[in-house]
Amino acid sequence: MKIHNTLTGKLEEFIPLTKNHVGMYHCGPTVYDTAHIGNFRTFIMNDIVRRVFEYNNYHVMQVMNVTDIDDKTIRRSRDEHKSLQELTRYYENLFLKDIESVHILPPHKLLRATDHINEIIDMISLLLEKDIAYQSNDGIYFSIGKSKSYGSLAGISPESLFKSQDRVTNDEYDKENPRDFALWKFHTPEDGDVAWDALFGRGRPGWSIECSAMAIKALGPTLDIHTGGSDLIFPHHTNEIAQSEGATDKPFVRYWIHGGFMNVDDVKMSKSKGNFLKLADLEKNSISPIAFRYWLLTAHYRSQINFTKDAVSAAQNALIKLMGFIVDSPAGGNIRKDYTAKFTEAINNDFNMPQAVALTWELVHDTHISPADKRATIIDFDRVFGLGLSELATPVEAEIPPEVQALVDAREEVRLAKDFAKSDALRKEIESRGFTVKDTPEGPIVKKIHSHDEHTHCC
Ligand code: AMP
Ligand code: ZN
Repeated sequence: MKIHNTLTGKLEEFIPLTKNHVGMYHCGPTVYDTAHIGNFRTFIMNDIVRRVFEYNNYHVMQVMNVTDIDDKTIRRSRDEHKSLQELTRYYENLFLKDIESVHILPPHKLLRATDHINEIIDMISLLLEKDIAYQSNDGIYFSIGKSKSYGSLAGISPESLFKSQDRVTNDEYDKENPRDFALWKFHTPEDGDVAWDALFGRGRPGWSIECSAMAIKALGPTLDIHTGGSDLIFPHHTNEIAQSEGATDKPFVRYWIHGGFMNVDDVKMSKSKGNFLKLADLEKNSISPIAFRYWLLTAHYRSQINFTKDAVSAAQNALIKLMGFIVDSPAGGNIRKDYTAKFTEAINNDFNMPQAVALTWELVHDTHISPADKRATIIDFDRVFGLGLSELATPVEAEIPPEVQALVDAREEVRLAKDFAKSDALRKEIESRGFTVKDTPEGPIVKKIHSHDEHTHCC
C-alpha cells in the first residue's frame, strides 16, 4: 500500500510496525457544538482509511478521541450556564448518532480527554523532569527551543524558532509565529469548577497534550498512522510530535495523513465562522447523508472541495442509479477477481477513491459480465465505500404514488415520440423520488428502491 506521508511530503510504501497489524489514531470532534459537514469530510476519510486496511486483511486498532476539555468547550459551557460534562456529553451523543447516519464504523476505542487526566499529568511531569518544559506564572509551557526538529511536519524553518522567545496560552495560533505553548493552564476564575490537582499546580490541560497522552496510552510510543484535517498540521500535530518525542525519545508517528478542507461557496467552513452546515441541513434539502458520503468518494481526500448543493444533488442522482442497478440485478453471482484486482490497485494507491468509483461505473457498463456477477463485485467494493449496498433488498412491489405514476405516464408518452432528452429528464425526476423505471416491450416497469436500513434511503 502506498500512502502520502505529510512528514516527508512523499508517497511511501506502508510498512507496519507489526506484520498485518495497523494502529491508527484520529483527532476526533471537539464536543462544544454539532459537528459540521467539513468535520465529517475528515471523519469519513478516517473511516475509509480503516476500511481500506480491513479490505487488505489487516487487523486494525482504530482509536479516536473526543476533545471534551479545551478553551472552546469551557467557553461554551460558561456561556450556556451548563456544566462542562452536561455540554460535552450532549454533543458527544449527537456525534455518535451522526456517524451512524453516514456509515462511519464506530472506532474500536473512543477516548475522552477528561478520562485521561492522570496520563496527561504524568507526561507533563516527565517533560518537566527532562527540562523540556518549564513553569511560568500562569501554567506549564513546552520549550520549543529544546525540542529536536520542532516544526518539521509543518515546514517551519529552525531560524524562525530562535526569533521567538514568547509564550502562547491559547490552544490555536498562527504558524508564522511559533512560540512556547501551554501544556497545563493554571486555574483562573473563568474556568469555574473545571480544574484538576497536580503536583505542579491546580489547573487543566492544554489541547495538544491530550492527544499525545491518549494516543500513547492506547497504541504505545510509536503509532503506525495518525490523521486529521490539514488545519491540524500546525500547531496541534506539530506540538503532539514535540511533546511525545520529548517524553519517550522515540519517533511518535510513522505515517501522517492529512485531509483537504471543505469550503462552502469557496469560503473555509468552520464553527467559529458560523458558516457551517450540519448533516441535518442536508436532509432538509433532500440530500441523504449517504449521498453526501458518495459525493466525498468522488474527490481525492487530499484535494480541497467546494460544497455546493448542485454538486451533491448530482452525486445523489448517481447513487440512486447505482442503488437501482443493485436492486434490479439478481443475487448469487461471483465476485470478479479481475475487477477486485483493479479496485485494490486504486484504493491501495493513497486511497484513490475517485478511481475506485470510476471503476465501479466501468463495471456497471461492462457488457461481458453478467448482472449477478456485477452485483456481487460491487457489493464487495462496498466494504470500502460503506454505502450500505449489501443491505438493499431486491425490489419490492410497492404502491406507486399517483405523482410518480403521472411522471411515468408522461415519460412513456415522450419516449414513444422519441423525445429522449425529455424522457431522460423525467427518468431522473422519477429516480429522485426513490423509484426506478425500466422499459420493456410490455411497457415501463416501476419499482421502489427499498432498503432494510432507513439511512440508505436517498430521498
Ligand atoms: P474539531 O471538532 O474542530 O476539533 O475538528 C474535527 C476534525 O475536523 C479535525 O480533524 C479537523 O481538521 C477537521 N475539520 C475541521 N473543519 C474542516 C473542514 N472545513 N473541512 C475538512 N475537515 C475539517
Ligand atoms: Zn488531536
